[in-house]
Amino acid sequence: ARAQAMEVDASPEVGYADIGGIDQQVREVREAVEDPLANPEIFQEVGVEPPSGVLLYGPPGTGKTMLAKAVANETDATFIKMAGSELVQKFIGEGSRLVRDLFDLAKERAPAVIFIDEIDAVASKRTDSKTSGDAEVQRTMMQLLSEMDGFDDREDVRIIAATNRFDMLDEAILRPGRFDRLIEVPKPEVEGRRRILEIHTQGMNLADDVDFDALADDLEGYSGADINSLTTEAGMFAIRDERTEVRAEDFEAAREKLDETSEEPGVVGA
Ligand code: ATP
Repeated sequence: ARAQAMEVDASPEVGYADIGGIDQQVREVREAVEDPLANPEIFQEVGVEPPSGVLLYGPPGTGKTMLAKAVANETDATFIKMAGSELVQKFIGEGSRLVRDLFDLAKERAPAVIFIDEIDAVASKRTDSKTSGDAEVQRTMMQLLSEMDGFDDREDVRIIAATNRFDMLDEAILRPGRFDRLIEVPKPEVEGRRRILEIHTQGMNLADDVDFDALADDLEGYSGADINSLTTEAGMFAIRDERTEVRAEDFEAAREKLDETSEEPGVVGA
């Protein structure tokens, strides 16, 4: 059963070079996750505790999952992903059991990076904790905290969580020794959008009239995931037109199509 809820990837394909526009965040994640996994003795020599857990927060599609995968990949660690929503279970004790399984599996497969997406699903401030469903979610969160509190820093397991709803989080999970390294992952600025456009068109046959500067300028509000959809969609327009070269007009058409299908301008594919 645990194999269903958890995604295990011995060597995810994503590397730092695939991530654009969030260099500072990449540096911070490396410092918090890579150094303790790769050189634990440095922390012992200096006499500081490495950060326990890293919390990535920010809008959807900005590269939080990519970051977690990349750091696992680049440290040759097993990547183990679990969605917070999967930890919310109907039966009493099931969520806690999943949390235990998650940490047991990580220790078995160490070095490992545990990634819990949508951590808010199990770690929200509750407005009404009287309902039994909430009580079960609360138990699951307590189990998660107790696993983290019981963590021996020499164990080569690192934990990264992500949320789009930072404001909803229960402060209990942010205490020292828990998710004590907070890293905001925002939508990319113009330079970042340019870089992400480059990354996602690397294998594409582009016409000379494609101008990334102008395009990046135009894509205010687009996340990395939006830009990924845009490049794929542009390629589709070229194919429909029976061309092998992707032109500026294809990006324009893609842009219109994506803006149409999203309610908020610039927020697509989230
Ligand atoms: P969510 O909060 O919805 O889970 P996320 O922040 O985890 O989103 P990812 O799953 O990492 O986002 O990104 C989705 C896809 O969008 C990636 O596979 C990648 O193609 C593209 N993408 C997002 N951000 C970036 C980025 N900074 N650089 C390059 N590609 C990106």
